[in-house]
Amino acid sequence: MAKDKLLDFDKAIELYEPVLGFEVHVELNTKTKMFCGCANAFGQGANTNTCPTCLGLPGGLPQVNEKAIESSIRLGLALGCEIAENCRFARKQYFYPDLAKNFQTSQYDEPIAFDGELTLELASGREITVQIERAHMEEDAGKLTHVGGATGRIQGAEYSLVDFNRGGVPLVEIVTKIIEGAEADAPEVGRAYVGAIRDIVRALGVSNARMEEGNIRCDANVSLRPRGSTVLGTRTETKNVNSLRSVERAVRYEIQRQAAILEAGGTITQETRHWHEDTGTTSAGRPKSDADDYRYFPEPDLVPVAPSREWVEELRATLPEPPMARRKRLREAWGFTALEFQDVVNGELLDAVEATVAAGASPADARKWWTGELTRIANARGVAADTLVTPQQVAELSGLIASGELTDRLARQVLEGVIAGEGSPAEVVEKRGLKVVSDDGALIAAIDEALAAQPDVLAKIQDGKVQAAGAVIGAVMKAMKGQADAARVRELILERAGQ
Ligand code: ZN
Ligand code: MN
Repeated sequence: MAKDKLLDFDKAIELYEPVLGFEVHVELNTKTKMFCGCANAFGQGANTNTCPTCLGLPGGLPQVNEKAIESSIRLGLALGCEIAENCRFARKQYFYPDLAKNFQTSQYDEPIAFDGELTLELASGREITVQIERAHMEEDAGKLTHVGGATGRIQGAEYSLVDFNRGGVPLVEIVTKIIEGAEADAPEVGRAYVGAIRDIVRALGVSNARMEEGNIRCDANVSLRPRGSTVLGTRTETKNVNSLRSVERAVRYEIQRQAAILEAGGTITQETRHWHEDTGTTSAGRPKSDADDYRYFPEPDLVPVAPSREWVEELRATLPEPPMARRKRLREAWGFTALEFQDVVNGELLDAVEATVAAGASPADARKWWTGELTRIANARGVAADTLVTPQQVAELSGLIASGELTDRLARQVLEGVIAGEGSPAEVVEKRGLKVVSDDGALIAAIDEALAAQPDVLAKIQDGKVQAAGAVIGAVMKAMKGQADAARVRELILERAGQ
């Protein structure tokens, strides 16, 4: 594959205005599929969760999953959408081996939710509001695995396997209006938009929201408009980008690639593009005209969906605090700097820190433990920090430090014990004998011994050179196996030396 020429990003933005649009598919976490009773479960034996309806066998009859409708309405409301009083499913006809029925049951001119908006906050503090055109319900297709080729793609494969377990899993497809004015922030807007959708579906609990398992998939539309022009450029649609970082990279790549073509006097082909995670590039997929004719028609086997206004209002009352509002509230309450707060958010530790503060720790301590020691251990083990210990345990640990029963150093040993399942922090302190020695008698004995062993140091201290005490503190801490408060040891040394 020939390597694409890219124009420098800043130069591209100087010459062209990027125009964006996103289609995000969210897989709902209902127990069963959209139109049949088969389990909606990931990672099971191929074709085990199937039935005549989701396999498209003759005679199979679909029935709508009420929970999927409920989740779709809640998601629509959280995106600020209107909810249709009456809407229908439609058949979208096309053939592909992962689509057993030869049509996808989707919604066309009557989506369940429409006309919403979502405000994003960028790292710079800039806010951008994205208009949502629609959020409609549909079903997922099965999954093809191409075997024998070098790339895992169909080209060059010897054969392909199809697994229909995913066929019929409920999806909500969220479509934005065109997004103008993002300018040089365009790649970050892509990332922030998909991140905001992920945060919302998580807060609602309507999807497992694991991008790496394909629960959220983004198609990114990018076009460039020459400065001074009022006409939209030709767009490309990069399909199935499934991490936040990849959305950002894919948008940036398309801006640079399209700008290089336009600068050289070429034209952009309207097409879908594949995203390649390994090389950070896109490549041509299939041509896509705006007039692709799927021969939509209303699904004759399903009745229209007409959610009552009472039900919609009941569901509206179940909406959680919007994630962005929650972040603003917590950041202010905790008094963190933007950077400190970003650390917590990026580490996906907002819930953990919030629960730790609720359990009695100071926000600063909660942040320190979660983004520091716990993240370090979690990274080394390849797990999430919040699977290691509970917020209550972290709060208890930080309480033991605050009361002087543990030093920071001892607390790290206690944490080790808690992670190893030896019990609560207090229990680990007890079992491992890690309490700070606060008995002055024991400290004084160790100090006198250390001073006697280093008469030259004693003489210096008595001479007024109090910084010489450091050498004795070290010896005493060692004798106490680190279980002493260094500041108290220092005080006592000066006292014993007659200072
Ligand atoms: Zn089924
Ligand atoms: Mn779709």
